[in-house]
Amino acid sequence: MRIDIVSIFPEYFAPLDVSLLGKARRRGLVDVTVHDLREWTHDRHRTVDDTPYGGGPGMVMKPEPWGEALDTIAPPPVTPRLVVPTPSGRPFTQALAVEYAAEPWLLFACGRYEGIDSRVVAAARERMPVDEVGIGDYVLAGGEVAVLVMVEAVSRLLPGVLGNLDSVTDDSFAPGAMETLLEGPIYTKPPVWRDRPVPEVLLSGNHGAIARWRRDQALRRTAAHRPDLVARLTGLDDHDRRVLR
Ligand code: SAM
Repeated sequence: MRIDIVSIFPEYFAPLDVSLLGKARRRGLVDVTVHDLREWTHDRHRTVDDTPYGGGPGMVMKPEPWGEALDTIAPPPVTPRLVVPTPSGRPFTQALAVEYAAEPWLLFACGRYEGIDSRVVAAARERMPVDEVGIGDYVLAGGEVAVLVMVEAVSRLLPGVLGNLDSVTDDSFAPGAMETLLEGPIYTKPPVWRDRPVPEVLLSGNHGAIARWRRDQALRRTAAHRPDLVARLTGLDDHDRRVLR
């Protein structure tokens, strides 16, 4: 997969060299290039922002550097999927991460200040798929952290990035059997730590009982932390309903 990221703070992306993603990059599984938006400015101060039309607080990112950046990185007719982080976008979910992981090329445009002049997205939409995406109901200072979140969520789904593919299928929100359930508690050695034993069933070797226990725990955790998800669950049996009472 190819990933391009445009930002006025390219140094924000140093973490992309670390851990799983860094290893995946070095192994050629994902090809990430970070671009400095200011390369596409032409004045002495390398200006990327200006005051908003109609008044109001803050500054807005100018369309010209963004237009040139997108044309240079993805010259027509080539078409990456453009992802523009914004709190007013569609929510970023595991399902969207799965969708992005199937794309050959993603291009991320990091806004700062009050965001990017809206004509940039309108113009880009005429020649490439564009998603405006929010990573949560809160406001960050810029799109860089949102892009780090999305790139990490997407790249761990790419073939060969994780050693054990089961870690992906067992995740909270993973499509499949545990869909829309949060992952329950997890344990490793030692079997007793500070007088706290690991739940006995996990040491039993009884795979059916372990699967049932994990589902019960997932149901309880989902009910406690995300009752909205429980309300949408279909196919609950009598046992599930008892667990949830
Ligand atoms: N005025 C904007 C609004 O209220 O929607 C907020 C702009 S925010 C201060 C600056 C930039 O941070 C945005 O353009 C976007 O790139 C990024 N950003 C902030 N919160 C975000 C979120 N929850 N999800 C994705 N991107 C976010």
